[in-house]
Amino acid sequence: MENVIILGTGCAGLTSAIYTARANLNPLVIEGSQPGGQLTTTSEVENFPGFPEGIDGFMLMDNVRKQAKKFGTRFVNDTITSVDFSGPIKILKSANKTYEAKTIIISTGASPKLLGVPGEMEMFGGKGVTTCATCDGAFYRDMDVVVVGGGDSAAEEALFLTRFCSKVTLIHRRDQLRASKIMADRATNHEKIEMCWDSGVESINPDDNGNAKSITVKNLKTGVMKEIPCKGAFIAIGHQPNTKSVQGVLKLDDNGYIVPEANSMVKTSIGGVYSAGDCADHVYRQAITAAGMGCQAAIEVERWLAEHE
Ligand code: NAP
Repeated sequence: MENVIILGTGCAGLTSAIYTARANLNPLVIEGSQPGGQLTTTSEVENFPGFPEGIDGFMLMDNVRKQAKKFGTRFVNDTITSVDFSGPIKILKSANKTYEAKTIIISTGASPKLLGVPGEMEMFGGKGVTTCATCDGAFYRDMDVVVVGGGDSAAEEALFLTRFCSKVTLIHRRDQLRASKIMADRATNHEKIEMCWDSGVESINPDDNGNAKSITVKNLKTGVMKEIPCKGAFIAIGHQPNTKSVQGVLKLDDNGYIVPEANSMVKTSIGGVYSAGDCADHVYRQAITAAGMGCQAAIEVERWLAEHE
């Protein structure tokens, strides 16, 4: 049986791994479908302390993983589909394997939300609709693209795409961005970015080959419809927590985020089970806050094991 199993390899999970490994707890990390988490799809991280020139998101996570490995963290690639936390031994099940541990840290992160409009799924991944400018931006060199959303992600994606694309239209449903002022100013002042305010997406439209050719938006104040030609549509409208496997087991809020106990940021409704990062935080959602929660969860694991052994 494991001392601790950590679910997820984003900033939260890998920080938990560094701390529990250095505490000689020999952690096992189960990494799912996106090793390294959301930061691996971020181009430049400018606000993680210690990197005055900024650092590429993939490189940052690669470094954190190496650091966790250096202290003896073990990694397996698997997808946990159900859990049983009812007894002192916590059980995790995947399609082919059952894992047992004394403590668990859930740091499964969050996944990008989609719009749910006609054409989106049909053209998702390879035919013009994507949620990752870092991954796919270079495919749209010298083309017109759109970004949907109004937060930091949308501003960041739009700015990143200006490196390749001839024009980026940023479509937002309100008349001001939710993004931080520095990002909003950079996006709205960029010569290649055109703002399309107060607009809801109605559909993403294919050409004869099934690739994106345009997006239809409706002005939410006037009701006027408009078709914007685009070869790529980058959806950046926020995220949903990856907490399906603990639904009905841990206390979740209406949006699926794990709810911490009142006296802690990382204790869940079940003793010995902790949560860290974006699966439990819909307020701060930063790499540094996820890392901080990962550290807290690791320290709680150490305390729990010391008290219960
Ligand atoms: P977010 O802040 O939740 O913003 C989501 C945006 O999408 C909002 O503008 C929202 O509109 C819009 N939206 C949501 N659902 C929509 C729908 N169905 N149709 C159309 N628009 C929709 O998400 P985020 O931008 O991914 O950022 C998440 C967190 O990560 C934030 O804390 C952010 O600061 C952080 N982040 C930081 C950086 C950085 O510092 N470099 C980069 C990326 C993200 P409304 O404004 O009308 O609600």
